Amino acid sequence: MNIILFGAPGAGKGTQANFLINKFGLLQISTGDILRDSVKQKTELGKQVETIMANGELVPDEIIFSLITDRLNDKDIKNDFIFDGFPRNLKQAQKLDEIMNEINIHLDFVFHIDVEEEILTSRIQNRAKQEKITRKDDTSEVLIERLKVYNRETKPVLDYYLNKNILTVIDGMGTIDEVSSDIFMTIKKDFKVD
Ligand code: ADP
Repeated sequence: MNIILFGAPGAGKGTQANFLINKFGLLQISTGDILRDSVKQKTELGKQVETIMANGELVPDEIIFSLITDRLNDKDIKNDFIFDGFPRNLKQAQKLDEIMNEINIHLDFVFHIDVEEEILTSRIQNRAKQEKITRKDDTSEVLIERLKVYNRETKPVLDYYLNKNILTVIDGMGTIDEVSSDIFMTIKKDFKVD
């Protein structure tokens, strides 16, 4: 089973990704995590992307494509992926289709975890306050930029998947368990799981 988790910054993608990983043993491919890791390790890639990420902008597609291709070719298991934070624009969505075609796997679900913008803003601001080590891109100014980038670049990807008939909108404003359960119920309709 291959899934894309889609949602604005603060929508709860990470939390639901963990739920799906634990429940179904999916392999998570989070471009944000991979990039943050390379910044921490101060690799060549990390140096290239640090400022872009700190400003809340998107990292160039070519960098993302090579990350994704590496990850997908790296694994013996060619199925059961969860994409989190990718694709983030139409080009990336088209590229993902190409790569998946090449290795002969397909997408089963695209979940849009839908949360009102006001709620997103307050969630991220709380997160920034509570965590001792805050992410550099979790300040309110950068958050506003990230939301703008999301609305401009990433939201149009939803129509792409809507047209392919694999988009499920999940109300992301309930509790964590409610959101997980909505996702689970959708999966259950197509897969024999419990
Ligand atoms: P969020 O909490 O907004 O979902 P992520 O952890 O997915 O954030 O990503 C953090 C940052 O990493 C983004 O703001 C962007 O700079 C960069 N990034 C992550 N994934 C991608 C991608 N697929 N394309 C371009 N940039 C990306």
